Amino acid sequence: MSDQKRPANETDPVLLPTFAARGITREIPKHKMAEESMLPDVAYQVIHDELSLDGYSLLNLATFVTTWMDEQGKRLLSETLDKNMVDRDEYPQTAEIEQRCIRMVAELWNAPDHENAVGTSTIGSSEACMLGGMGMKWRWRDKRKAEGKSYDKPNLIMGSNVQVCWHKFCRYWDVEAREVPCEGDRFTLNAEEAMKLVDENTIGVVVIMGSTFDGRYEPVEEVSKALDAHQEKTGQDIPIHVDGASGGFVAPFLQPEIVWDFRLPRVKSINASGHKYGLVYPGVGWVIFRDRDALPDDLVFHVSYLGGDMIDLSINFSRPGNRVVGQYYNFLRLGKDGYRRIHQTSQNVAKALSARIGEMPQFDLITDGSDIPVFCWKMNEDYAKTASYTLYDIAEKLRGRGWLVPAYPMPANRSDLVVQRVVVKEDMSMDIANMLLKDIERAVEYFEQRPENKPTDNADGFHH
Ligand SMILES: *Cc1c(COP(=O)(O)O)cnc(C)c1O
Repeated sequence: MSDQKRPANETDPVLLPTFAARGITREIPKHKMAEESMLPDVAYQVIHDELSLDGYSLLNLATFVTTWMDEQGKRLLSETLDKNMVDRDEYPQTAEIEQRCIRMVAELWNAPDHENAVGTSTIGSSEACMLGGMGMKWRWRDKRKAEGKSYDKPNLIMGSNVQVCWHKFCRYWDVEAREVPCEGDRFTLNAEEAMKLVDENTIGVVVIMGSTFDGRYEPVEEVSKALDAHQEKTGQDIPIHVDGASGGFVAPFLQPEIVWDFRLPRVKSINASGHKYGLVYPGVGWVIFRDRDALPDDLVFHVSYLGGDMIDLSINFSRPGNRVVGQYYNFLRLGKDGYRRIHQTSQNVAKALSARIGEMPQFDLITDGSDIPVFCWKMNEDYAKTASYTLYDIAEKLRGRGWLVPAYPMPANRSDLVVQRVVVKEDMSMDIANMLLKDIERAVEYFEQRPENKPTDNADGFHH
């Protein structure tokens, strides 16, 4: 039959049923682009369906990154999908909104002069950390040059619990990473251990507000005081960069009494992820420098803005402007009170859930969510001796119900210890938490009742 004789619904691409169309009746190309085009509805359906194999983000308790925004926030984000953040001259209001956010974040972190805040939005904390790290390296190098001293062996002090972006920073910018290892029940850096690693080539110390491994805050003020004492003795002025990827948007609301930010003169730069507890979908971070002196001239580029001049200090050129708009929406919509309520609610959920998990004889808590709303636990040591399963098995079992609750080893020197972690975010209600708890209990029961785990003569009381 020639095409002319076929009924219209077999030849007219508009009339073809989606699932009978080409591209669905054949496999889609995966290694090279096909020659022919595909109907948008069909391409949409194919990709949409494939993505249903991804984890469901509400149940993704592994990520720190925002998995829920309200309708108005989402609408603004989609209305501004076309904005390129770098086109400041062409999108001056988006640029203005970025500046307002920079001032607001600087004020939140007690910058000495937030009206003239120095900083930028970034694609995330990783880019922001690069900039903070470069600030430290450049300032150290300039000082060493001026003193006629060698500047070829810079080192940076950090805990072995740093996020991978700091290992990247050190590798990309040729800086030696000096790590404070974990010790016993200490899974973060402390002042005493950090000071043992300091020498004249130290460009700075990274202190984390909200360790990714267990959610704990590192002691910024204590490290700052130790560095004050060091300066008094040696004259060497070592700066602190605070990696507040998650805590930067939590501590100001939940623990205003903790002094970790620009209130400490030694803190020269701070980063945070707008897309973590800043409550925006992935694609925005912030770095703020204490003042213009904390930012070496070499790192500053000048761009045209409404015929004037504006400083540009990002690494990326083009990037989405809509995430910055989304950040401003949250600042405006929520205000400080809104952020406080949301994070307090998350923390209440984290504490309630961690308490219940801690009560289970099988587990021991390592953290309970009282710093950032993130907590982790390990297997009870006595119980683990006879248990025929591990936290990895629990994670796997939970995954069968859709929960993503990772198990992983702690960092250097305690990598023998495996923990399991939950990141509580805005969209995790108490009800969802209770469902998770039920599923954890069910998983434990399942493993304990497997034939290979039936009680033996030396039953330890945990088995039923
Ligand atoms: C998430 C995280 C980072 C990296 O942030 P991105 O925004 O994902 O690039 C850096 N440091 C810490 C402590 C983090 O938790």
